[in-house]
Amino acid sequence: MGSNYLNKKKVCIVGGGQSGLVSLKRILESPFLTGTIIEQKDNIGGLWYYNGIKEFSASSRNMGKTLPDPENTTSMYDNLSCNGSYTLMEFLDYKYEEDVETYLAQSKVFEYMQGYAKHFNLWPNIQLNTSVVDIRPENPSAPEGEPGKWIVETHNLKTDTFSTEIYDAVMICVGKNSYPYQSPIEGQDTFQGKIFHTKYYKNSKDFKGKQIVLIGFGPSSADVLLQLSKTAEKVTACHRFPYGYQFGLLPENCRETKTVKLITKDGVVTEDDEVIPCDVIVLCTGYGLKFPFLNESCGVTVIKEKYVPHLYNLTIFTKKPTLAFLNLCYRSAEFIVVEIQARYFVSYLEGKTKLPSYEEMEAVLQAEEAEKVKKGLPYSLWFQIGDFFGIESWAHFWKLAEEIGIMGEYKGAPALEKIYGLLIGRLCGALAVYKQDKVKKINDNTWEIIMAASPLGKAERIVLTLNPDNTLTSTTEEVTEVAE
Ligand SMILES: Cc1cc2nc3c(=O)[nH]c(=O)nc-3n(C[C@H](O)[C@H](O)[C@H](O)COP(=O)(O)OP(=O)(O)OC[C@H]3O[C@@H](n4cnc5c(N)ncnc54)[C@H](O)[C@@H]3O)c2cc1C
Repeated sequence: MGSNYLNKKKVCIVGGGQSGLVSLKRILESPFLTGTIIEQKDNIGGLWYYNGIKEFSASSRNMGKTLPDPENTTSMYDNLSCNGSYTLMEFLDYKYEEDVETYLAQSKVFEYMQGYAKHFNLWPNIQLNTSVVDIRPENPSAPEGEPGKWIVETHNLKTDTFSTEIYDAVMICVGKNSYPYQSPIEGQDTFQGKIFHTKYYKNSKDFKGKQIVLIGFGPSSADVLLQLSKTAEKVTACHRFPYGYQFGLLPENCRETKTVKLITKDGVVTEDDEVIPCDVIVLCTGYGLKFPFLNESCGVTVIKEKYVPHLYNLTIFTKKPTLAFLNLCYRSAEFIVVEIQARYFVSYLEGKTKLPSYEEMEAVLQAEEAEKVKKGLPYSLWFQIGDFFGIESWAHFWKLAEEIGIMGEYKGAPALEKIYGLLIGRLCGALAVYKQDKVKKINDNTWEIIMAASPLGKAERIVLTLNPDNTLTSTTEEVTEVAE
């Protein structure tokens, strides 16, 4: 290690999922920075590192008491296939092979991340089996807005030893799908059947012939419904969206209805006073944000487990801007978003991107928050840009990419955005068939989307062509069947 290494700023990356990996890659390509991923599990991949519940529990038994999830399980489950097409699940300069399936299996995304780490030689800077247990500023009394160093304490779960290191910056890449979130429903304790959060759903085999109620119905629980529909007698999705999936062509033994106001010993009662008897209730109520390793002196607060104030551009902690959080916003193409966030923070650490003053950043955030209050949005929607589907989040992150001078690298941006919009429409409008759709990047300027037929319409072939001025032309034609 030469003196060059000693002069580089050191960045601690907490978590080795997709956010952590892309952060490390972007840090290591900077001549001014170096960094290390600290990952508590025995492999990288985050949520996508999953070998089935048995193997996972066995390997995580060694992981000591510092695991933030006391039940030592991941939110992944057997046979998950992604709910976004592969074109939305890859980083800028590492692509899936050409003949990859549209909706990737969990194992394929895991393999992609392994390939990414190997291709960019990230492994020497990854420390596995190590949990970050405490992070605190070196100078807790520094004025707000002043960048400073961080003291990071880690627990090596194999050797059961603790150590402390000082870093110039910290990136929190621990995801947002670890801590089940639910406001208890009246009568919940009286239910005599099985009740559990989606985090603990692993496969549908134990639900043969059961009457199941899902409480909540986001994109992930829609996938759980599809799996359960194959073994359960009946699945009822109870949700509060005024629209929902009515046109969603649910499988024959599934239906949707209003949200639940009461749980009884043998079922649920909806807001419309419909009584639904059931054997199983699955709480599809999402996840909460927790950062148990952040010392109080960091000044980070989490409101109602859903919102972290003082994050400029949803990333940089204004009070101490050498601290960044990745991937906290909802309903977005996460691979694309986290790469832009990582590059934004790197650009700031390198001194290329200047932040506004602390007061200016706070004023921007306060105005944004006032707008959310005015709209009456609950905190659960404060990390969501724009409408329910997140379409507007694209504009926000393209603007950020523009600001740091990398937008030119996102040549296919209008097509990716369009594909995202089309897919969201299918997820909400053709749930039972949308995974038969095919999305393919034909070349740098052309994408083809074949939408499977549904009772609402015939199969369609959409071709997206990127024009030289970066606008998009879209043509649609009916096709008779979806080619295999
Ligand atoms: C069931 C399900 C299905 C999904 N499907 C899709 C999909 O199809 N497409 C899509 O784009 N998104 C999907 N998502 C969204 C998901 O958030 C992301 O795909 C992705 O997992 C986020 O990556 P991440 O790196 O931010 O976090 P994670 O993948 O959660 O990784 C965080 C890592 O941090 C580590 N960590 C946590 N605390 C510590 C600590 N104290 N010390 C050290 N390490 C720590 C964890 O062990 C973990 O490895 C899905 C989410 C769920 C729950």
